[in-house]
Amino acid sequence: MNDFINAMKRYGLIGKTLSHSFSKRYFDAYFKDKPGYSYDLYELESIDMLTQLVSSKHPLGLNVTIPYKQSILSFLDELSEEAKTVGAVNVVKLDYNSDAPVLKGYNTDVYGFENSLLPLLQSYHDSAIILGTGGASKAVAYVLDRLNIDYLFVSREKEKDGKVINFQHLSSEIISSHLLIINTTPVGMYPNTATYPQLNFEAITSKHLFYDLIYNPPKTMLLKEAERRGAIIKNGMDMLIMQAKKSWEIWYD
Ligand code: NAP
Repeated sequence: MNDFINAMKRYGLIGKTLSHSFSKRYFDAYFKDKPGYSYDLYELESIDMLTQLVSSKHPLGLNVTIPYKQSILSFLDELSEEAKTVGAVNVVKLDYNSDAPVLKGYNTDVYGFENSLLPLLQSYHDSAIILGTGGASKAVAYVLDRLNIDYLFVSREKEKDGKVINFQHLSSEIISSHLLIINTTPVGMYPNTATYPQLNFEAITSKHLFYDLIYNPPKTMLLKEAERRGAIIKNGMDMLIMQAKKSWEIWYD
């Protein structure tokens, strides 16, 4: 069996709908000069189909996207420290050296976000607003914890312990006192590019740093509005590239 697996060197992405995949383009280009390596898209109707995929295709590594970043946890044998704390996995490494395959989960969104944010940070970026409370927001919060940056989540409805407020309570004062603002909602993402999260742009200053995890379009309405008021802006492209690079380091290690 090991000869078969070594000959294949299969990698891929699992998710539900995978028509426009950055990962596929990235790894196809990366594997262009590496005969015997392939990167395939696996659209799974349900995460239960993972077991069948592993036993039939023997992938050595998988990227994981919406909606399986959390539901995949119960299929994994081991988790990296980051994936455990964040509670979400976007990379799986598979090892076939035992009787049954061993699957280890990682979170490289953490690496991508941290390393793309660090060069932009100033000492006054010591408190942040995270828009959205989904999967990506947890990777962002993990990084901010690690960097000792205080943060507040903004959600459409939930409010909790002063740590999560809703958009109606996102006042100018709060925006003025939080100079790092990170959008982890899909609002403004292609094809709905004319929309943006509701916040008071008047309170934005040139000391603000706006980081939008969206990479398509490269400059969302949110980033355009922030830039117009002198803020430093950053889109999600570097994070995306860095998390993909890190996937390969994990698989190849
Ligand atoms: P998710 O789990 O669905 O979470 C998105 C969150 O955004 C939701 O939990 C929700 O928070 C909020 N939200 C959704 N629709 C909204 C709306 N219409 N108005 C206001 N808030 C809304 O998705 P995710 O995996 O965290 O991904 C979020 C975004 O980050 C996507 O655009 C994704 O492409 C991007 N992303 C980029 C990278 C990268 O490498 N650049 C990596 C990961 C994700 P509430 O329920 O609290 O309102």
